[in-house]
Amino acid sequence: MEHDYDLLVIGAGSGGVRAARVAAGHGARVAIIEEYRVGGTCVIRGCVPKKLYVFASRFSDMFDLAPSFGWTVDANFDWPTLVANKEKEITRLEGAYVSGLEGTGAEVIRDRAEITGPNTLRLVNADRELSARYILVATGGHPFVPDIPGRELGITSDEAFDLETLPNSILIEGGGYVAVEFATIFAGLGVDTTIVYRGDCILRGFDEDLREGLDAGLERRGIRRIYQTNVTALRKQDDKVCASFSDGVDAPFDVVMFATGRRPNVRGLGLDKAGVKLATNGVVEVDAYSKTNVPSIYAVGDVTGRVALTPVAIREGQAFAETVFNDNPTAVDHSLIGTAVFAEPESAAIGLTEAEAATHGDIDVYIAKFRPMMNTLSTRSERMLMKLITEADGGKVLGLHIQGAGAAEMVQLAAIPMGMQANKADFDRAIAMHPTAAEELVTFKAPTHIYRDGVKQD
Ligand code: NDP
Repeated sequence: MEHDYDLLVIGAGSGGVRAARVAAGHGARVAIIEEYRVGGTCVIRGCVPKKLYVFASRFSDMFDLAPSFGWTVDANFDWPTLVANKEKEITRLEGAYVSGLEGTGAEVIRDRAEITGPNTLRLVNADRELSARYILVATGGHPFVPDIPGRELGITSDEAFDLETLPNSILIEGGGYVAVEFATIFAGLGVDTTIVYRGDCILRGFDEDLREGLDAGLERRGIRRIYQTNVTALRKQDDKVCASFSDGVDAPFDVVMFATGRRPNVRGLGLDKAGVKLATNGVVEVDAYSKTNVPSIYAVGDVTGRVALTPVAIREGQAFAETVFNDNPTAVDHSLIGTAVFAEPESAAIGLTEAEAATHGDIDVYIAKFRPMMNTLSTRSERMLMKLITEADGGKVLGLHIQGAGAAEMVQLAAIPMGMQANKADFDRAIAMHPTAAEELVTFKAPTHIYRDGVKQD
């Protein structure tokens, strides 16, 4: 049977756009359907605006340091200018995404799609049915908000970028990436900021040294952290939102933001009509080639619940197009993925944490904590952290954890030798570049501590 298209992609975010472009480049007849703005969470209300706001928030740190270098700064911040300039930039990027898609011959359809069968979907607004040999679900995710009374009074990261005015105070619930990054942004812009988190320290799953270092960094920046506590209700109190906490305390804030994780966008998508199987946590179940249980339907990115990071979705989209439209079966290796938290101090990691590595055999742990040169003329006591974890006696590098300025850039580069299975000697062979922070990575001498048979030895 002749279909209208070879590929219909639902969702023009990072994964969908890459898949559409590559498939069209291989000669497929492709349409990509998007109900909101082209670019997805990353471009429109995620990584890109977040990083721009992180840049904005870091100026306050620089202004604090400036006098130690002889500068006098009289600085003022204007939130509407930042919001407007951010909007200009993401509109430009959105345009670049659209022209990139159209340049490869993919058609961009602005509508909502609902799957009606293994090879068909309906455009809701146009009220039209389309068919394709393959359908790719790349619908991403949305912020999850706990089901508490007054939850509608809170915002999520979707709204945080476009607040009409910069609040005087904000409460952020959660202890993950979004909570920590937004807390850093708002505090850096002068907002009285509080994090409330159900766990005992932010960033569960990260290396303990990184978690502690970041917690101390938030403290230094005046960010209040309330641990082992939940928000149980919100109510309006004059022009503020009053939060009730699980420890019985009530407190008013200008804004309350939920950063309590994300859920896959599967609702109303018609996956059931095609018989697509979902996992118990609601994500679309796929195999190593991103194929669902329905052979004509694939899924990539956050909706599959593998690793919710833009570059991973892009890889998955690329691999899907290679597999299906270039006769080149390609599976994405999810085993060694670097990640960064753009908070203050910036924190980035790749590979195993110390706790994980210690259960994998004998390991050596090298740690450097030092005052970054940038701070040496001031009274700042903040330390930079470099932690390298290797197999025992100079074996393979298993994990790298960096905290401080440029952490993400350094970990990105170290991902190359680590992907090549580099060992300690490979790192040591590099001659240090001086004075840099990264030189610590190639000048580690004796381990700070080691683990033998799972036991830590100093
Ligand atoms: P995360 O999963 O990182 O964090 C969610 C946080 O909310 C956790 O601290 C979790 O607690 C807490 N939480 C979950 N449910 C509840 C609840 N019912 N009540 C109270 N607290 C709750 O999600 P984020 O939204 O921060 O980020 C989503 C994903 O987006 C990340 O996993 C990451 O993959 C990606 N991302 C990446 C960024 C980057 O690369 N820099 C930046 C932002 C997002 P607990 O720890 O106890 O589970």
